[in-house]
Amino acid sequence: MSALETKPRVWFLTGSQALYGQETLDQVAGQSQRIQRMLTESGAISADIVGYPVLTESADIRQVMLAANADPACVGVIAWMHTFSPAKMWITGLDMLRKPLLHLHTQLNETLPWRTIDMDFMNLNQAAHGDREFGYIQTRLGVARKTVVGHASDARVVERIDGWARAATGLAHLRSLRLARFGDNMRDVAVTEGDKVEAELRFGVSVNTYGVNDLVERVDAVTETAIDALVAEYADVYALVAELRAGGDRHDSLRYAARIEAGLRGFLTDGGFGAFTTNFEDLGGLRQLPGLAVQRLMADGYGFGGEGDWKTSAVLAAVKAMGHGTGRGTSFMEDYTYHFGPGEPKILGAHMLEVCPSIAGQQPSCEIHPLGIGGREDPVRLVFDAAPGPAVVIGLADLGDRFRFVANEIEVVPPDEDLERLPVARAVWKPSPSLSTSAESWLIAGGPHHTVLTQAVGAETLRDFTDMVNTELLLIDKETTPAAFVDRVRWNQAYYRLRGGI
Ligand code: MN
Repeated sequence: MSALETKPRVWFLTGSQALYGQETLDQVAGQSQRIQRMLTESGAISADIVGYPVLTESADIRQVMLAANADPACVGVIAWMHTFSPAKMWITGLDMLRKPLLHLHTQLNETLPWRTIDMDFMNLNQAAHGDREFGYIQTRLGVARKTVVGHASDARVVERIDGWARAATGLAHLRSLRLARFGDNMRDVAVTEGDKVEAELRFGVSVNTYGVNDLVERVDAVTETAIDALVAEYADVYALVAELRAGGDRHDSLRYAARIEAGLRGFLTDGGFGAFTTNFEDLGGLRQLPGLAVQRLMADGYGFGGEGDWKTSAVLAAVKAMGHGTGRGTSFMEDYTYHFGPGEPKILGAHMLEVCPSIAGQQPSCEIHPLGIGGREDPVRLVFDAAPGPAVVIGLADLGDRFRFVANEIEVVPPDEDLERLPVARAVWKPSPSLSTSAESWLIAGGPHHTVLTQAVGAETLRDFTDMVNTELLLIDKETTPAAFVDRVRWNQAYYRLRGGI
């Protein structure tokens, strides 16, 4: 869980040139520090901004890029050409950089001093063309980057920088992520399959399978003391139904759920895993399908996918790292069933059990009910409705020759009526721009039925992330029309195949 343990850092690099003389370069350095302070003091950037001395020659630029590559705490690099930094000095450094890059196009002065402006002011505040020189060389070299334009006091500029830093934090987490699969994929399912070798090259995640009975051994070895502690915590945090409480008829089932949690957590901790999958077809000696345990591990930042879905599990772990500290949630999700009307059409999403309580709108209720699938004892689970508000669902599909992300901006809403007889956690949402266009586009894109639902990061951050991993994103939003979307799918097909070469 490296990316979640230490506060990520973003390096702030300022370009100039020796031509101006030391006095001017000192002013450049001072102004750069003031911009860095404005960004930091906004309190709205999740990463620490770390400044470096003004760069004026290629050897220093190469050195700082190599150092950025080597520092695990550095998730990305911001570059700003304060004055004019002839861009040939950046060629070899940019070519070596392996961390995400943000080109910040700004200047310290927000307002033009119309009546007093002179050539000294012009020469000091010339990022307008200094950054154009830098934009040219990045484009000429084909350097992937995000470009943000505006003043550091603008909340929207700060928000976009933070979104990019969050995407970079998610990438850093994914690059070193170890994912444990308990059993294989659900038999005969197509979309949860995928190329694990390509995934490790492109995203960094290492995906490996473990016999479920390796997990069962750990579960069986959990001590009664450990179970007591967890059961006390459950009673404290959740609304426990009477039959699960100490002395209740089914308290033993709760104790067994706690046993699963402790065993699973121990397995993941000892192996350095940040994500996992289960499969109800392959539970070995487990007496319940892991429900409560999976829900609580997700809430702690672990990625999860049901039915062996390692791709969704990996994406969930990355998005959780992106949303760290926002106070808003992210969960494994599945499009389940529709409300076509009356009223506005909506999607009801849920899973058999495994929805993360970080998206809950109220205190979850801890309950036990039969589950027709899996053929085991009744599993314990948390039941709740997702908190209303804007969110994004994102899915990852393997098209055979490449990966494709599909995402949809949505609005989570309260259910029209109480779902009294549906004892699982669930989310109801209105997809943008409409249910029909959203679903038609999703189906045309070949998007999966499993997704990550996040209320913690927005579509722009997800796009920053998919750009960083150099992978296609088809976003369905309020501007989407079915015809234009079909065209985009066709054009993307040509673009990605041409880009891939022979
Ligand atoms: Mn499923």
